Amino acid sequence: MLDDIAANLTRIRARIEAATLAAGRAPGAAQLVAVSKTNPAEAVQAALAAGQRLFGENRVQEAAGKFPALRAAHPDLRLHIIGPLQTNKARDAVRLADVIETLDRPKLATALAEAMAKEGRRPDLLIQVNTGAEPQKAGILPAEAPEFIQACRTTWNLPILGLMCIPPAEEDPGPHFTLLAQLAQAHGLTTLSMGMSGDFETAIRHGATHVRVGSAIFGVRAAG
Ligand SMILES: *Cc1c(COP(=O)(O)O)cnc(C)c1O
Repeated sequence: MLDDIAANLTRIRARIEAATLAAGRAPGAAQLVAVSKTNPAEAVQAALAAGQRLFGENRVQEAAGKFPALRAAHPDLRLHIIGPLQTNKARDAVRLADVIETLDRPKLATALAEAMAKEGRRPDLLIQVNTGAEPQKAGILPAEAPEFIQACRTTWNLPILGLMCIPPAEEDPGPHFTLLAQLAQAHGLTTLSMGMSGDFETAIRHGATHVRVGSAIFGVRAAG
């Protein structure tokens, strides 16, 4: 498995580059976030050895167990928190992450602003948009996004860089990526985190600046 990680990374990077060029975008315009959730530190080490520096984890606690030691050995490692974030984990997330991709509600905005003040650290933030309006899924509803983006900037003075989405599993993701790109453009946001193992090429065609790829690199997860 560890041997496969380097080969998988090479293959995914080639596909990202091909999709980027096919979309008429500049080389490197879409960055790979290697989603290492549920995988042990050894798997992250194998990816680091293959030159990967940007990682995504969806649980703060799991990231806190794995990443401080890895970061000590690789100071240029960058970590994105990509999972739903509870307000009581905001401070740990601010301490750990370079980017938090899942800001999606006023209570969390307040908690992150307070955590940033206390920690003296300001990770970049993405706002997660529930483009499919799925009841079980995190993210601000598209109709509420404009007001929320504005409030994050003015009320909480948060460093909002862009938007993130996870389209409904059983739908064509294209229209969801289009919606996210339009929302971002309307608000002068430049970062678009969208696309996973099954649809990252489509996301790149729609302007993704970050694709979050897990199983295509680390293998299919057992659970969680
Ligand atoms: C797990 C996860 C991914 C990666 O999914 P794969 O299908 O394994 O590539 C991407 N984004 C989020 C938010 C995730 O939780």
